[in-house]
Amino acid sequence: MTTQEVIEMFGKYVIGNYSRLPRVIAKGKGSYIYDLDGNKILDLFPGWAVSGIGHCHPKVVKAIQQQAKILLHMDNTFYTELQGRLAQMLSERAFGGKCFFCNSGAEANESALKLARISTEKKKYKYITTLGSFHGRTFGAMTATAQPKKFEPFQPVVPGFVYVPFNDIDAMTKAFDNEVAGVMLEPIQGEGGVNVATTEYMRAIRQLCDKNGARMILDEVQTGMGRTGKWFGYQHFDVVPDIITLAKTLGGGAAIGAMMAKPEIAAALVPGTHASTFGGNCIACAAGIATIEAIDEEAMIENSIKMGKYAFDKLNQLKKKYDVIDHIRGKGLMIGIQLKSPGADIVAKCLEKGLRINCTQDTVLRFMPAMNVKASEIDKAVKILDNVMSDKGA
Ligand SMILES: *Cc1c(COP(=O)(O)O)cnc(C)c1O
Repeated sequence: MTTQEVIEMFGKYVIGNYSRLPRVIAKGKGSYIYDLDGNKILDLFPGWAVSGIGHCHPKVVKAIQQQAKILLHMDNTFYTELQGRLAQMLSERAFGGKCFFCNSGAEANESALKLARISTEKKKYKYITTLGSFHGRTFGAMTATAQPKKFEPFQPVVPGFVYVPFNDIDAMTKAFDNEVAGVMLEPIQGEGGVNVATTEYMRAIRQLCDKNGARMILDEVQTGMGRTGKWFGYQHFDVVPDIITLAKTLGGGAAIGAMMAKPEIAAALVPGTHASTFGGNCIACAAGIATIEAIDEEAMIENSIKMGKYAFDKLNQLKKKYDVIDHIRGKGLMIGIQLKSPGADIVAKCLEKGLRINCTQDTVLRFMPAMNVKASEIDKAVKILDNVMSDKGA
C-alpha cells in the first residue's frame, strides 16, 4: 500500500483520537525507524519510551520468538515460571517489592489506587496528585492526572482527588490529613515538561505519608527501567516508596505494565479484589526478562548516564547559540529543552530532516532516546536541531 492509501484507510476505519504525523512507519531497528516511502528517521523518542532499549532489540526479539513456540498465554488460574522470574528480577532491583502484572501504565496506576484504598485503615478514598502530572487515560488514572483540560470533558470524574503544585512542600502539607489514602506522583514529571522532584520534596512526602498512614505511590512508568541513570527514579532521592508503577520500557516493546508494592501492603490484594486477564502474559513476561537482561549485559544504565551528560553538554552549547532556548533540564536520558516560544514547528521541521523528537506543554522539546543510543546519534540529532533553529532565525 502507499502512504496515502494507509492514511485513507485510517480515515475510514480507525477512530481519530490521535493527531498523527503523515508518515507510515514500516519497520524499526535500534534508534532508527523507516517509513513506507523509504525515509530513514533517527528516533530519539522511540515509542514514547516503550522502545527504551531501541526498536527490535535482538535479545527481546529472540525471547519472543522462542516463547511463541512454547506457550503464548497462560491465565492466572495456574502458575508460570516466567511471571515469577520477572517479578523476582524487579523485586531484587526495587525494595524487595511484590508484583502485580497488567498491560499498561494506566492499568498499573489503577491497581495502585485500588491497593492504596484497600490497604489503608477505614478504606480511605482521598488521593493527592500534582499539577502537570500524567498518569494515564482510564477513569481513575485520568482523574489522578492533574491537568483539568484532560478530564473536564468527562465530568463527573472519580471523587476524592486533590491537586497540589509540584515540588511545593507547603501545599502538600496543607492538603494532607488522615483521610488521605495515597499520594501519587512521578519522580520526574514527563508529560508535565520534564520537571525533576527535589530530594526535600520526596522526603517530606515520605514523612507525611508515614504520619498519616497514607501510601506513597510513585508513577515510574516513564522514569523506571534505567533511563534516569538508576533502575528506578526514586533511587535518586534517598526515599523508599510504598508502591511503584511500571510499563513503557518494561517490555522492551511488548505490552506490559506492573505494580510493585511492599509485601505487607501488597497482602491486602487477596483473591477476588483485583485481576487482569492478560496480566503476566507469557510473551510479555519473556520480553520483560530479556529487556532487563539486555539492560544489564549491555550496561545501558551506565550508558544513559554517559550519554545523558553528553547530550546535556551538546544542548547547552546550542543554548549559547540560540536565544529561543531558555534552559535544559532532566536526568540521564530524560531530557527537556525549555523554549521561550512554542516548539511544535521545530518538531515538524526536524522530522522533515530525518529526526523524531517530541514537544510537550507547548514549549518543552523532549528527548527520550533509547538507553543504548550512541554518541554519533546524539551528534546527528543536535546537528539537525541546529540546522532547524538556524533556518528559523531563532
Ligand atoms: C505513559 C504514561 C502513563 C500511561 O501509560 P499507558 O500505557 O499509556 O496507559 C502513565 N504514567 C506516566 C508517567 C506515563 O509516562
